[in-house]
Amino acid sequence: MKQKRAIVWFRNDLRLHDNEALLEAIQYADEIMPVYVFDERNFKGKTSFGFAKTGKFRAQFVIDSIHDLRSNLRQKGVELIVRVGKPEDILFELAQQIKSSWIICNRERTAEELRVQDNLEGKLWKIGQEIRYTRGKMLYHTADLPFPVTQTPDTFTAYRKEVERITPVREPLPTPTKITPLSKLTPTDSITNTQIEGGDIPTIEDFGHEPFTPDERAVSPFKGGETEGLKRLKYYLWDTNLIKTYEDTRNGMIGGDYSSKFSAYLAQGCLSPKMIYHELKSYEAERGENKSTYWLFFELLWRDYFRLIGKKHEQKIFQIGGLLGKPDKKWHNDERLFKIWAEGETGIPFIDANMRELRLTGFMSNRGRQNVASFLTKDLLVNWIMGAEWFESHLVDYDPCSNYSNWLYIAGVGNDPRENRYFNIITQAQRYDPQGEYIKLWIPELKNVPVEKIHRPDTLSIDEQGRYGVKLGAQYPKPMLAMTKWVH
Ligand code: FAD
Repeated sequence: MKQKRAIVWFRNDLRLHDNEALLEAIQYADEIMPVYVFDERNFKGKTSFGFAKTGKFRAQFVIDSIHDLRSNLRQKGVELIVRVGKPEDILFELAQQIKSSWIICNRERTAEELRVQDNLEGKLWKIGQEIRYTRGKMLYHTADLPFPVTQTPDTFTAYRKEVERITPVREPLPTPTKITPLSKLTPTDSITNTQIEGGDIPTIEDFGHEPFTPDERAVSPFKGGETEGLKRLKYYLWDTNLIKTYEDTRNGMIGGDYSSKFSAYLAQGCLSPKMIYHELKSYEAERGENKSTYWLFFELLWRDYFRLIGKKHEQKIFQIGGLLGKPDKKWHNDERLFKIWAEGETGIPFIDANMRELRLTGFMSNRGRQNVASFLTKDLLVNWIMGAEWFESHLVDYDPCSNYSNWLYIAGVGNDPRENRYFNIITQAQRYDPQGEYIKLWIPELKNVPVEKIHRPDTLSIDEQGRYGVKLGAQYPKPMLAMTKWVH
């Protein structure tokens, strides 16, 4: 009897646990070929403002994740086929070669990803094959929501109130115990899964990046992969009970423990949000619930919400006018101002420390992200898309919906119910880095400046500059705008 074959196309779901595409393939097909394609447009291409679309930190994270995925799949009996190129071409060729019945993948929601899957679908139709879509990114299954995606409420609070009490989070799907690889195609045909070259996993040099060792100040070495993601989940909940104090610590900025650091694992799908949720529930049942255990769930709700907003508003989340269709007329594409911001050379320590952390490690805390985004769009009046693309390039945890929707929100063209939200950089710096420790970590030029002046180096006299070993305009820049604007 003819064996039914499925290609499982791994995309941003680099895991075996709770992977609907993989389980559906096991259910419907007799033989399975898993494939991952490093899309050359993402790994070698540029954003519209000319930044590398995937910077070295995320590229390395994905590469690690593919090594881990290949090793985990081998233990189940199949080889992960790895290629670099255009997924729609490569998968089409493989589908023809092995005469698969379906390509099964978890559906993506944003424009670039949709274009790839639509192109592939079009090609497959012509040879009588098709894509079967499954779901894998969100906490909630869209079918379980009390509204169609197109009717997603336009404020987070309304959304949260509608879903959190009544919508169940489904159990994560089990990790398969065994996966059957391809056997012979036909009696005259001898292609087997092992004869289709597995393919080498590229290195970051293949994508034009220099190898690097992680900065020792980084909040995490961010080693990618499902194994590391699950380890981090266990660490944050069971091993350390850090989850118990998350609500109090989440606005921190130094070290690995102030927040979960799940984001990069979630963005590449090394961790499933349903898995996190159910671990949280087990944790609460065994060790007690409190405002912190709830708060992590609350943040995962934000993540789902922005994904639904991305689907509902489609291209608008990537456009300067945002959901409102109304860009701030004062925004400009000033490359000079932008570069000073991006390099962390503004002369405003709280901004510079955060921007340097991003550039040197691929990560920045949520508090930092909010402040630097507000500063760029509301103080420097630079087009927010330049900032969002810089984040897209550098963030290890970049996720299109989370990144662009957060930028829209801060820029004031998203779904923030509060009008004119503005971050007073000095107040924020004093509240979230009262001793200036974070600033000194990333701006060693300021390490001898006393606490009372650390957020206002512009107030250092010439004499003090000499005493603390920092000459403004030489070792550290003079502020690019008058800091008195934040002092009332
Ligand atoms: P935790 O505080 O431990 O939160 C747990 C999880 O909840 C996170 O891993 C994340 O998946 C989710 N989450 C938390 N806050 C948010 C939020 N505001 N929006 C959406 N999801 C959230 N997050 C990304 O994952 N990718 C991005 O590209 C991204 N870009 C951002 C850009 C800006 C301008 C801002 C203000 C925020 C952005 N965030 C993004 C959200 C947030 O900053 C990060 O998710 C968080 O800092 C990651 O650290 P963590 O995993 O320790 O978070």
